[in-house]
Amino acid sequence: MNDPLKKWRYEAIGKRITETLAEKEYDAHYVDNLEEAKKLVLEMVPEGALIGLGGSTTLNQMGIIDTFREGNYRLIDRYNCANHEEEVQKYHEAMNAEYFLCSTNAITEAGELVNMDCSGNRVAAMIFGPQRVIIVTGANKVVKDLNAAMARIKEIAPLNSKRIHHDTPCTHSGVCEDCQTRKRMCNYMTVIYHGRKNPGRITVIVVGDELGM
Ligand code: SF4
Repeated sequence: MNDPLKKWRYEAIGKRITETLAEKEYDAHYVDNLEEAKKLVLEMVPEGALIGLGGSTTLNQMGIIDTFREGNYRLIDRYNCANHEEEVQKYHEAMNAEYFLCSTNAITEAGELVNMDCSGNRVAAMIFGPQRVIIVTGANKVVKDLNAAMARIKEIAPLNSKRIHHDTPCTHSGVCEDCQTRKRMCNYMTVIYHGRKNPGRITVIVVGDELGM
């Protein structure tokens, strides 16, 4: 990030939310940049591990998917599928992964992780299934409360829809029109309130920067 004031702000927000997340019994870590986040993930995930992926701009920015492809890992590669059926099969396989990597759409100041999915594979795996979940997120995803999280999600959903060329009304207008079509992106919303049920299962790596959408 080139803007020193923005960087200062994201560092302050990121460090504060990391403390809150640790109090909520997530395995919480603050890092300064994506390179440090990648290094930390690679320290956590051993070679040979069975790895699932949630759709994430942040993971793509981090370049870690190629590292898993090229290294000695058992990556369930949802991005290398011949057709939609195979992709859905990978979603199922990822539910039994040893490590599931993704990002989050929003984090409230109280440490709640708020997410909206099209198919539900990511939010399902975040809650239950994979032995470990590693979430990498920019501090720009921190919002005041659940209402602000919902507002953030509705703001980014049209961008996401446009990015993956989904033919929804918002890809034409740029704003959510609460569409009622089968192409709708916003179908399954979850709130993870804390990490107390299975302490250490969910890792959140907060990057003091602006990442993802
Ligand atoms: S509900 Fe429909 S129109 Fe609104 S953001 Fe989601 S996909 Fe777009």
